Amino acid sequence: MEVKVLGAANEVGRSGFLVSCNGTNLLLDYGVLFGKRGSPPEYPLHVKPKDLDAIIITHAHLDHSGNVPSLFVSGNTDVYATPPTFDLTRLLIEDMLKITKDAQPFGQPELNNMMRNAKEIGFRQKITKGNATFELRETGHVIGGGSVLVESQKKRLFYTGDIKTHGSRMLREADLDVGDIDLLIIESTYSQTEQKPRKESEKELIEFANEVMDRKGVLFIPSFSVERSQEMACILRSSNFKHKIIMDGMALKVNEIMFNHPEYLRDPKVFADAINESVAIRDHEKRKHALDEPCVVISPAGMLVGGNATYYLQELSFNSNNGIALVSYQGEGTPGKKLLDTGKVSTRGKDLRVAAEVKQFEFSGHADRNELFEIIEKIKGNPKVLTVHGDSESCKKFAQEIHEKFGFDTHAPDVNEIITI
Ligand SMILES: [Zn+2]
Repeated sequence: MEVKVLGAANEVGRSGFLVSCNGTNLLLDYGVLFGKRGSPPEYPLHVKPKDLDAIIITHAHLDHSGNVPSLFVSGNTDVYATPPTFDLTRLLIEDMLKITKDAQPFGQPELNNMMRNAKEIGFRQKITKGNATFELRETGHVIGGGSVLVESQKKRLFYTGDIKTHGSRMLREADLDVGDIDLLIIESTYSQTEQKPRKESEKELIEFANEVMDRKGVLFIPSFSVERSQEMACILRSSNFKHKIIMDGMALKVNEIMFNHPEYLRDPKVFADAINESVAIRDHEKRKHALDEPCVVISPAGMLVGGNATYYLQELSFNSNNGIALVSYQGEGTPGKKLLDTGKVSTRGKDLRVAAEVKQFEFSGHADRNELFEIIEKIKGNPKVLTVHGDSESCKKFAQEIHEKFGFDTHAPDVNEIITI
C-alpha cells in the first residue's frame, strides 16, 4: 500500500491523500485552502480523475470536500460519503460558488455531476473496490463525518480526517475500535493546545446569557452554520433558558438537513426540542422586529464575515446592555479576530468601539492534545504515523512526541511525499 500526500501537509486546509492498493486507487478527501483575504484559494496536488477507482469524502467542511467537483468535468468516478455529508457538502459548495464565483476551477454543472455519482454509505459499512476494502467510522467532529479505514492485502490504514474524540452535545464520541493499524494518518490541529472541558465552556456561556437577559439586553452569538449554531441552541435550552432564541441565515438550512438525519445525532429529541422552540428569521421584515425584547440571536458567520452577522453587529454593538459571545474559531484577519483584539468593528467604512460586552468561549470541533493522545493509545499494532492537518509546529512536534511516548515511526510529511507500507 502506498500513500501520496496531496495536501494538508504542515498546513490546515486542502486535505487530499491518494491511496494506491496494488493498482486500485482511492482518493481520501479533496479540499480547498482559503488563503488570507485577497489571495486565491489553494488546492491539493492534481490527480487524474480517470486514474481513480473511488473518492471518499470524510466530511462536508470545504477544506476536505471543496475541490471534489473539479474531478467531475467529464468524469464518473464513484464518490462515497454518508448521507448528511453529501447534503452538507452540496450546501457548502453551492454557497462557496455564490461567494467566490470565478475563483473556483469548476461550477454548478461539475457539482451536479459529482452528486450524480454519489454513493451514500453508513458508518461501518464495508465497500470493496478492486484490491481495497474501506469503511467510515464515526468521528464526533461534524454530523455524518467519518474517519476512513482502508484494508488491502493484509495492510490496514486509518485516516482520522477531522476528529473530536469525545464528541459533543450533538454528536457521539469517535469510534476508535479499529484493531491493528499499519499506517495512521492523524490530524494535528490542536496537538499543542489543551482545551477547557466543554462542560465548563457551556456553563460560562449560560451564565453570560443570563447576565445579559437580566440587564434586558440581547445576546448575539455569531456562529458557524454547521452544527455550532445548533449546539448553542441546545446548550441554552437544556439549561431551561426562558427567553426567545432566534436563528438566522444558513443555520436554518443546516437545521433542515440535521432533521433529515436524526440517526446521526447523539440525541435527536434534545436537538428537535431546541430547534422547534427557536424562532426562525427568514426575511428582513421579521429581522427588523426580532430584537424588541431580551433574547439570544444565533447567526452565521462565525467569524463575522458578511451575511446577516453584519446587520446584527450594527444593531447590537453600541448598547452596553447587549453581549456578543464569540464561540467559533476566529481566523487571522477576520472581523471577529479584530473585535477580540481591538474591541472595534468596522461599520459603514469606520472603525467604531463596541459598547456591548464581548466574550470568547472555547467550543472546538477538533480533539485537543489530550484527546489526540487518547486516539494514539487506543490504536493497536505498531503503526507508522503521519501527522497532518496542523500548522508546521503542531504537526512536527506532535510527530516527535508520539515517537518519544510510543516508539512509533512518525513524521510530519511534506506535500508530494509518498509513503509505502
Ligand atoms: Zn472539519
